[in-house]
Amino acid sequence: MKCTRGGSFSKGEMQRFGNIELSPSAGVLNYGQGLFEGLKAYRTEDDSILLFRPEENALRMRMGAERMCMPAPSVEQFVEAVKATVLANKRWVPPQGKGALYIRPLLMGSGAVLGLAPAPEYTFLIYAAPVGNYFKEGVAPINLIIEHELHRATPGGTGGVKTIGNYAAVLKAQSVAKAKGYTDVLYLDCVHKKYLEEVSSCNIFVVKGNTISTPAIKGTILPGITRKSMIDVARSQGFLVEERQVAVDELLDADEVFCTGTAVVVSPVGSITYKGERITYGNGGVGAVSQQLYDQLTSLQMGLTEDKMNWTVQLN
Ligand code: PMP
Repeated sequence: MKCTRGGSFSKGEMQRFGNIELSPSAGVLNYGQGLFEGLKAYRTEDDSILLFRPEENALRMRMGAERMCMPAPSVEQFVEAVKATVLANKRWVPPQGKGALYIRPLLMGSGAVLGLAPAPEYTFLIYAAPVGNYFKEGVAPINLIIEHELHRATPGGTGGVKTIGNYAAVLKAQSVAKAKGYTDVLYLDCVHKKYLEEVSSCNIFVVKGNTISTPAIKGTILPGITRKSMIDVARSQGFLVEERQVAVDELLDADEVFCTGTAVVVSPVGSITYKGERITYGNGGVGAVSQQLYDQLTSLQMGLTEDKMNWTVQLN
């Protein structure tokens, strides 16, 4: 789907996956005018296909587009395009329990622009691919390292929207961490360097007794849709959930830590290394709270329990 600056998106069409043509001076290539989303389609036991809260992705893309000076498809256009893409790729949705079809909507400044300015033309496209577990650990605990030199987002920057540049910012720390054997990086705020922000591609939750804390959304972390859903799921399970500043010291006496995201779903954290000290959780296994919340959320997403929240959208 295409759109000029200040206009609205035309109706899209289905095309085979392949390369696209871009001007070397496209806004996205030169000035990072790009946003993406990620969502998953799951196959149910009776062979229907479910999407999870796609209108939330549409709204987040619209919020990001505003920050990045881009026009965005309407919520309805976005959701209809996602549905059409999944239906056209139905056979690629794995059987239940074997993964999901990952859907990647992309919005970019595709028009040519030389001086620094928003591009004159925009392209919205969606591609999809079947996926299994995001981390090689599967649902086994992951090992994080806290980064205190490099940051992924600054106050007033673009950390709170899903723009492509945020991911370029994490590549260095992430590849160094991976080379040292860690699964991923946990970032701290760049002002005080003591409050938790998020992991490269997921949000973080800290469990202590019946209380679950997660960093509040203040513009430097991505408002995850899994995070938002997890807060409701955990409250429905009787936990007290706090959205607030979570200090790095709180990791020392936490019972469990887990991450949430579309790709990672709910990933228990087995250890966090901070300034050379390794804090471990759950004796190498999955903590009881992480397991309970993983089961609750995934059974909802896969249509195994009644969807009282009305979060899933059935496609066929
Ligand atoms: N933080 C970052 C930086 C991410 O890339 C993601 C993945 N979209 C998340 C958090 C989790 O967001 P969601 O639950 O919407 O996938």
